[in-house]
Amino acid sequence: MSSSFQTDTRGVLVPCAECSTVNRIPYNRLGQRGRCASCQKPLPGLAAPVEITSIDAFAGLIGQPNLPVVVDFWAEWCGPCKMMAPEFAKAAAQTAGQAIFAKLNTEVVPEVGQRLRIQGIPAFILFHHGKEKDRSSGFQPAQQLLAWAASALAGAAAE
Ligand SMILES: [Zn+2]
Repeated sequence: MSSSFQTDTRGVLVPCAECSTVNRIPYNRLGQRGRCASCQKPLPGLAAPVEITSIDAFAGLIGQPNLPVVVDFWAEWCGPCKMMAPEFAKAAAQTAGQAIFAKLNTEVVPEVGQRLRIQGIPAFILFHHGKEKDRSSGFQPAQQLLAWAASALAGAAAE
């Protein structure tokens, strides 16, 4: 099981659990259960955080129409961000298939945090259908993060 999934400009890279072939799931097909291009076995769900490493990956991931996305803005120098990492991974594992939990290192892709006016980290933004629905910040246990995301989504659905 991967501890995180890498991305490129077109999709999320998912290694097959059977044959280790790395499959790209295009962003607009996330949320559908894909099969390995090589051995045809079902691909594992995204039960671990997805790493956003470019502006294109960010745009593709949050712009897809199927799943809400929680983005964790973090950096290596940030102690609370490091404490948050296992909690964020737990949240990803508990919501696999229903939501995507993505991590964005603000030193690797600084433009996104600047555009969104992120003030302090860790910061979490919930996106759905390409739009920001809510944001939260500071260390929090997985259950608190999940409760926040669920309530933000419920609020967004009622709009
Ligand atoms: Zn395979």
